[in-house]
Amino acid sequence: MSEIIIGIDLGTTNSEVAVVENGKVTIIEDQGDKMLPSFVGISDNNELLVGESAKNQYILYPERSIKSIKRKMGEDSKINMAGQDYSPQEISAIILKRLKAIAEAYLKQSVSKAVITVPAYFSDTQRQATREAGEIAGLEVMRIINEPTAAALSYETAHKAHKKILVYDLGGGTFDVSVVGVEDDVVEVLASHGNNQLGGDDFDAKIIEHILQHLDEKYPGLDVSQSRKAIARIGRAAELAKCNLSDNPFAAIQEEYLEEHDGAPVHLSLELSRNDYEVMIDDYVEETLEAVHTALTGAKLTVSDIDEILLVGGSTRTPLIGERLQEKFKLQPHAEIDPDLCVAAGAAIQGAMIAGSDVSAVLVDITPYTYGTSALGNLGGMMYEHKYIPIIHKNTPLPVSKSEVFYTLYDGQKVVEVDVYQGEATDALDNIEIGMFNIEGLSDVPEGNEIMVKLDLDLDGVLNVKAWEKCTGLEKSIVIENAIARFAGAELETARQRIEHIFDTKEQTADDGFIEAHSQTEASEITRQHQAVIQAEALVEKTQRMLDQASNDDREDMQRLMGILKQAIADNDITGLQEPEAELADILYYLES
Ligand code: AMP
Repeated sequence: MSEIIIGIDLGTTNSEVAVVENGKVTIIEDQGDKMLPSFVGISDNNELLVGESAKNQYILYPERSIKSIKRKMGEDSKINMAGQDYSPQEISAIILKRLKAIAEAYLKQSVSKAVITVPAYFSDTQRQATREAGEIAGLEVMRIINEPTAAALSYETAHKAHKKILVYDLGGGTFDVSVVGVEDDVVEVLASHGNNQLGGDDFDAKIIEHILQHLDEKYPGLDVSQSRKAIARIGRAAELAKCNLSDNPFAAIQEEYLEEHDGAPVHLSLELSRNDYEVMIDDYVEETLEAVHTALTGAKLTVSDIDEILLVGGSTRTPLIGERLQEKFKLQPHAEIDPDLCVAAGAAIQGAMIAGSDVSAVLVDITPYTYGTSALGNLGGMMYEHKYIPIIHKNTPLPVSKSEVFYTLYDGQKVVEVDVYQGEATDALDNIEIGMFNIEGLSDVPEGNEIMVKLDLDLDGVLNVKAWEKCTGLEKSIVIENAIARFAGAELETARQRIEHIFDTKEQTADDGFIEAHSQTEASEITRQHQAVIQAEALVEKTQRMLDQASNDDREDMQRLMGILKQAIADNDITGLQEPEAELADILYYLES
């Protein structure tokens, strides 16, 4: 048996330890937790606290607790904890020693060698301090490797030659982006950039600000900043809401008996929408994209040179981040391996490579397909009734639970039809319909009634679909067994027939759809009649865009027809739209081909 070399991700916020056993990477858990908060403290009974317990006492007793020691690595300074001074190496060593003990308890043998990761920008002094911390903890540090290199190693991608990978790492308090080159199994950081004062904590701070503002409006004169306990609870509630918003369009923020004000208890209760939250953090996300640009420039590469994007760090679970990167690079970023754990996994792989043991790719259970529903939405510039709205994306680790909000189309809509599809096409009808149901008896309210749809997919491929009216909680759900089954060949045909049968046997009303969340602003405009107007407007817009490509004659016709359409739109003359639309469609078709 070859020797054991553990892999350690010594993070600013959290640390993890992993090992390769029989060719497989395991992230080692400590009492069910794979992450050890990078906090150290001394309790009021003079006990040494490491991890969660130290994190819990941090806000209440900061003088007896230390966090983010990684930021001080390499500095010639002392940090005071409960009246005693420590070097940054000593504090890091306490965390490393705990990780070593966690590994030993799991492996049931002593461990003396480790690979430890550091940010790509760490100087020699900072690397040396990390090495010393390992030695103080009783570990022989076999190698210090860069975090983006470890992330690349944890993905199979690293074994394929000639690739340029962008590693986007947003943790709790730091942001790093690196361009990594992979050439015949050699992984090298080509350029790296970042901001070591930007991370998920800043996102929390925005929500905290929002909560404090809400409390101020609701309880004028209340000053919670005086109560460490209340501030600690608000901070935790904000972080929880942030994490919930990664999977759901709304998050409830609730804390009972937060404080007393004028002799009465103060209860915190508010709802935050993902849309509002995304506005709060937009500037931060933009800042990270500028850093991405700087890293690319540093590597003398452009967006189109990047073959893959890897997401690292807990904050990359924020959907806005993946969406922005996808927009910029036209590549779906990889998040199959838990973004909190892939650096430790890569360090363990490096350890196994040094020890001369075989390593297979990190195995993760992911969904090979996208699942979603359909709604009225903008597809290729036109409003279309069956636009596919993905809810669980392909390659998401399992189990997964995601929800989205949709809106009813017209006043007094009593029923919505929920169609569930598996597939990747933007037109839902080109995907495979794997289930459908109606929720009936909705409230008699104007259009725009919020309907939530939640998809839960487990490791056995069982898909639970639930839809509910947000204002009343009225709900309906179905269970689709075997949702991950590969529908191929004959099975595909059987599935199609099954669905056709359902179509034939149920009364289908095209009106009972709903509208996608992203088109919420359009929702107020849209009744069935308005849909025609919107289509016409989209056609006018498209025509306008294509004017440059047209010959003089065509351009005159296009302008004339646009004029007629605009007039019909202004008059809400739905029948008057048809003729000019047909003529324009012919011209555009000709221009496009
Ligand atoms: P790391 O330093 O990589 O462990 O990342 C920790 C940060 O990730 C903290 O700010 C967490 O609040 C944040 N985080 C963890 N899970 C999520 C999530 N589901 N959505 C958004 N942020 C998250």
